[in-house]
Amino acid sequence: MCNSEIESIDHLFFLCPVANQVWCHFIGLFQFPDAPRSMSHLWGQWRLTWPKDKRVFGDLVSKSIVWNVWLARNDCLFKDIFTTVNCIIMKTVRLIHFWLSSIADSPRERCEEDISMVRRSLDFLGPRVLDADLAPHIGDDHTLEEI
Ligand SMILES: [Zn+2]
Repeated sequence: MCNSEIESIDHLFFLCPVANQVWCHFIGLFQFPDAPRSMSHLWGQWRLTWPKDKRVFGDLVSKSIVWNVWLARNDCLFKDIFTTVNCIIMKTVRLIHFWLSSIADSPRERCEEDISMVRRSLDFLGPRVLDADLAPHIGDDHTLEEI
């Protein structure tokens, strides 16, 4: 997406400045020292730094980031649509929220505090992000209030 490196899995999802800024948003939110550097680091040592009771949520965050970076990459490559970092963050949060709504009550309740923190983090992105980047992509069944 940045056109500064040959695309590889690790560059696209972790080392690319675009992906790195998305990771840094969530790393800052959860106060982790650094972002994962590779797919093997993500699902190996990095994942183990999450407290055990937070790993379900951490897995959702990680999978949502990777998925939304992949979609942004495809939009850029195949549709000439550039997705901003803030938009990727918003879509990541929306997907986490959607996934949480589909899991059983008990695991979801354990994630409530974390998703509340993620929701509050969107305030720092500002209302322009909501207006310009997310609103046109929200379907009828997902409102901003749900996020
Ligand atoms: Zn790049």
